[in-house]
Amino acid sequence: MNRRAIIAGAGIGGLATALALSRARFDVTVYERAEALEEFGAGLQLTPNATRVLSNLGVLESVRAFATSPCAILAIRGSDDVTLMRMPIDDAERRWGAPYIAIHRADLQRLLQEAVRRTSSAKLCFGSTVEDVWGNGDQIFVGVKQGSRTIQDSADLLVGADGLRSRVRERFGFGETDGPAFAGRVAFRATADSAHVDRRWRRPEVCLRLGPHAHLVHYPLRGEAILNLVAVIESPWSGAANDHPWNGEANRPALDRAFSKWSSATRDLLAAAARWRAWPLYFRPSIASFSLGRIALLGDAAHPMVPFLAQGAAQAIEDAGALGRVFSQTESIPDGLVTYSRARIGRAARIQIEAQRQGRIYHLSGPMAFARDAAMRLLGPAGISARYDWLYGV
Ligand SMILES: Cc1cc2nc3c(=O)[nH]c(=O)nc-3n(C[C@H](O)[C@H](O)[C@H](O)COP(=O)(O)OP(=O)(O)OC[C@H]3O[C@@H](n4cnc5c(N)ncnc54)[C@H](O)[C@@H]3O)c2cc1C
Repeated sequence: MNRRAIIAGAGIGGLATALALSRARFDVTVYERAEALEEFGAGLQLTPNATRVLSNLGVLESVRAFATSPCAILAIRGSDDVTLMRMPIDDAERRWGAPYIAIHRADLQRLLQEAVRRTSSAKLCFGSTVEDVWGNGDQIFVGVKQGSRTIQDSADLLVGADGLRSRVRERFGFGETDGPAFAGRVAFRATADSAHVDRRWRRPEVCLRLGPHAHLVHYPLRGEAILNLVAVIESPWSGAANDHPWNGEANRPALDRAFSKWSSATRDLLAAAARWRAWPLYFRPSIASFSLGRIALLGDAAHPMVPFLAQGAAQAIEDAGALGRVFSQTESIPDGLVTYSRARIGRAARIQIEAQRQGRIYHLSGPMAFARDAAMRLLGPAGISARYDWLYGV
């Protein structure tokens, strides 16, 4: 008989986990508080460490059909458009064993959702908020609010894939005393119709524009139809009043002010997008374990990170792959979760720290920025690629 798993949250982590656990002979129910998957979103880079797992889950080909394959990552000086570094990534499959792709978040979630719906042992319930969790001996119980009624469900395993403000993490603590911490940075996200963008920036390249206290990342999505833009500025606005930390209407003057001294090409790119959304960035310090008895944390619920290594979703997908691997070899849920936590915790913590460091490097000014630019030139494409082997090549 199959084991039973409940997953709280149908984000990228929860959906990938539903696929992974179904393959490991679980009957899976995913409870998602949203009424439907949000259509709004922006681009995601999916690095080889994540696409390798998607391949193992049997969804990479369908994902690739909607993704673009950037051929290089460019670091560009924001003030005058000088290219500081060009790292080829079209050889990612040879170098790291899997492709480097970019995809619209809404496309990825839809494709994962369709794959879950095709899986007979997995069930997806929207409009279902996991409000309470109890038990943790032989069974785990959840109270799920569905409209005006609350139902009870039970399983052998509960996975908290419920994001930054995880209810599952809050309920059991996992040894943590603090909640999410504001990173002092706000990401402004938008997509622009490529027709409004200079031909140079429609090429399949991830461009990273660097300047003092801000940076801008842009790359094409959906073929070349749209350009994804993420501008990150330092700001005290934490969006604290919002329950959901994402998706605030952007303070456009603050964005324009932050980039006012940048090149005209940079300012043209910002002007090409009609509507910006603001995401105050949060992180949480790493915790001692991602598991407690029959409960596992995964993705942003376990290790939220600033997005400067493009690893939040990638790490959620890696977690899913790890859970699937463990439970295809282990019957005992508590033993399997200890193995899962041990396998994941060190790597996730390192990436959390490295992502923060990367953010500081991106925003350097004055002589420090000069030194950074010189170091990038000195390393060259081969040296830069080698610095990512530990991250992409697992
Ligand atoms: C500006 C920016 C750029 C980024 N770029 C990249 C990138 O290029 N590459 C990359 O890999 N990552 C990137 N990320 C990070 C990535 O978006 C997240 O890390 C990833 O989406 C986390 O997925 P998740 O499934 O763990 O959590 P979430 O996406 O937060 O999903 C959690 C789900 O749980 C649901 N939920 C919450 N509480 C409950 C409850 N009590 N009951 C039921 N359901 C519940 C929520 O509605 C949600 O659907 C970026 C992030 C930002 C902010």
